[in-house]
Amino acid sequence: QTSTKPPPTPSPLRSAKFFQANMRILVTGGAGFIGSHLVDKLMENEKNEVIVADNYFTGSKVNLKKWIGHPRFELIRHDVTEPLLIEVDQIYHLACPASPIFYKYNPVKTIKTNVIGTLNMLGLAKRVGARILLTSTSEVYGDPLIHPQDESYWGNVNPIGVRSCYDEGKRVAETLMFDYHRQHGIEIRIARIFNTYGPRMNIDDGRVVSNFIAQAIRGEPLTVQAPGTQTRSFCYVSDMVDGLIRLMEGDNTGPINIGNPGEFTMLELAETVKELINPGVEIIMVENTPDDPRQRKPDITKAKELLGWEPKIKLKDGLPLMEDDFRTRLEVPRKN
Ligand code: NAD
Ligand code: UDP
Ligand code: UDP
Repeated sequence: QTSTKPPPTPSPLRSAKFFQANMRILVTGGAGFIGSHLVDKLMENEKNEVIVADNYFTGSKVNLKKWIGHPRFELIRHDVTEPLLIEVDQIYHLACPASPIFYKYNPVKTIKTNVIGTLNMLGLAKRVGARILLTSTSEVYGDPLIHPQDESYWGNVNPIGVRSCYDEGKRVAETLMFDYHRQHGIEIRIARIFNTYGPRMNIDDGRVVSNFIAQAIRGEPLTVQAPGTQTRSFCYVSDMVDGLIRLMEGDNTGPINIGNPGEFTMLELAETVKELINPGVEIIMVENTPDDPRQRKPDITKAKELLGWEPKIKLKDGLPLMEDDFRTRLEVPRKN
């Protein structure tokens, strides 16, 4: 039997666009260093709609300028310590200052951001049934007594020190993630990020790679904090973003270390930056801050096995990419 009725007029809710299998993704802290690179990558997929919520404490709209006005992109000035009522499918929860000088600037606020901020994002994930990924940190291992650090290590953290707002804050955030998972069945992912570097780092944010590169470009002495034998392992930001997306899309809750296992002393890093950027510059020893971890290197066996991920960019190749960005922003072109 054929119908003589005219076809129904499509209602706005039934338009093709509405029924596309778009993924709506919230990135908290998306105006920051890692967050803005993550947004760039997520926006490459035309099925993704990206919403950034950021209070601009350490991030900036400039990092997202190429997306402002894009139909699949939205930017909200929002502090995650306040509730947020929106509809999303995935949440990348990055909001939190990462550089010691910024997270120590208002330590109580740093704790609120980690604890209340993560609680709110978990409440949101619970209400809308979204999957949530937390960017935790290698700082949860504190001044580690095992080396390299794997995910089963519980850490050696000072609960009352000047770094505690950040590292204990992240430890509580991890606890909240697992309690929401066990108690409410929320789909969670936890990345333990090791030191990450690359373009768009704040020039004067006090982190070692950004400090040394800016100092070398400005012709100022490179400030190695004593004793200079302490180690870190540096991951280029595009590798980091790739690892975070694989973790989100995979089946493992984590925690999973994401970092580059190449380990350097701060003196070696200074020598490398000097050699690459400005051989004429001096290296000086300055006072360190309290509770500085003496060594840090990720064991990335889990990331390799469970995510098929490992970093591709070596420090020697990543530093010049960051130098280009810093030279542009500092307006100091290369001499040759
Ligand atoms: P960042 O400081 O550049 O970015 C953090 C962003 O969060 C900024 O845009 C800031 O404005 C925003 N923010 C801070 N507090 C907020 C709040 N209360 N509400 C809303 N937005 C807020 O730092 P990053 O290096 O991009 O780090 C991103 C995440 O990765 C952080 O969670 C950090 O703890 C984690 N992490 C980073 C590193 C690293 O080496 N960069 C290492 C370990 C962990
Ligand atoms: N929350 C939010 N957005 C939501 C749902 C909840 O920001 O869409 C916040 C809410 O304000 C609360 C927190 O998340 O402070 C935890 O929410 P949950 O429902 O788990 O706990 P309850 O509200 O029962 O304390
Ligand atoms: N550091 C340094 N010179 C600087 C800044 C930092 O030698 O100008 C050292 C610092 O003492 C620490 C390491 O570099 O041992 C990494 O410091 P950063 O603040 O970058 O990261 P985090 O301590 O959070 O790993």
